[in-house]
Amino acid sequence: MLTITTLKEILAEPKTIVITTHYKPDGDALGSSLAMLLWLKARGHQVQLIVPSDYPSFLHWMPHQEEALIYTDHQAQADQLIKQADLIFCLDFNGLGRTHDMQGILRESQAIKVMLDHHLVPEDFDDFRLWDTDAAATALLVYDFIVNLMDDRASITPEIASCIYTGIMTDTGSFRFQSTTAAVHLTVADLILLGAKNAEIHDLVYNSSSENRLRFLGFCLLNRLQVLPQFNTAYFAITKEDLLRFNITTGDTEGLVNYALSISGIRLAALIIDRTNQIKLSLRSTGTFPVNEVCATYFNGGGHRNAAGGHDDLPLAQVVDKFKSILPSYQEQLTL
Ligand code: 5GP
Ligand code: MN
Repeated sequence: MLTITTLKEILAEPKTIVITTHYKPDGDALGSSLAMLLWLKARGHQVQLIVPSDYPSFLHWMPHQEEALIYTDHQAQADQLIKQADLIFCLDFNGLGRTHDMQGILRESQAIKVMLDHHLVPEDFDDFRLWDTDAAATALLVYDFIVNLMDDRASITPEIASCIYTGIMTDTGSFRFQSTTAAVHLTVADLILLGAKNAEIHDLVYNSSSENRLRFLGFCLLNRLQVLPQFNTAYFAITKEDLLRFNITTGDTEGLVNYALSISGIRLAALIIDRTNQIKLSLRSTGTFPVNEVCATYFNGGGHRNAAGGHDDLPLAQVVDKFKSILPSYQEQLTL
């Protein structure tokens, strides 16, 4: 592991840098990556952001997002850039598997890997890490890196501040999850002082639904929501046909699982979707129920205690049955 002093010395000279994040980047992944891109570029480095896949359209307004190279669309070019990189910044993930198709080339790379992340159980691929599972968002760690480790608050432009703000806002459910400490609010206040356009960002992210997306929400609430009162559990199971019928694309199902959790008394909520090649699960909980354990044990995934995800290769109906069959073993935790 490198010390921060050594990393500072390395970054004192212009370097060739790749920034990357997890598959299907969310607001925190993309916000953190763009903030780091803008800051590193301003310091004179040659920087390329490579994202493993596309990302939701409600993030398409973000400053400089058009500079991101989507790996699946530009694999040869991206591989070349990764091979040439002196450093690779790995943001909002801590296992190379989370980058899907990029993991092979990242594993081969001899570049110095800098990881900023807040997920549990990190893999050992990095040379420097700013890792804090108590951090509400990776974007907070980006702020910490620039302001406290690099001592460079002065370089935070309104664009950088807006990117960091977006990451914190989306990963804290607009500042309402338990992770939203007083320190988070103080950082957010500083970001607004630095020029983050808070009201505008809320509007751009949350008031950008298509008519289809809203009708899909109505359809799911009416026809796809199942409630299991004996386990304080509610879930949606969404078929391929549902996605086609409403022309659902990346990001359109974001937040849907929270409607299941919003029913009074519900402790566990799930969104089970039949995606192109496999079934994707998104689990949410209230209180101490550990959905990351459920995802890690049964669904090849992980995440945080109250928000986790995973996937399964079985058909949708069987995954739903599997999910339901797990509940009795958690009866006590779900109903106490
Ligand atoms: P979401 O349900 O919104 O896809 O993800 C919720 C949380 O679970 C995020 O923090 C995300 O990083 C994590 N997560 C989602 N899918 C996976 C997965 O397949 N593997 C792991 N390890 N974590 C996941
Ligand atoms: Mn995050």
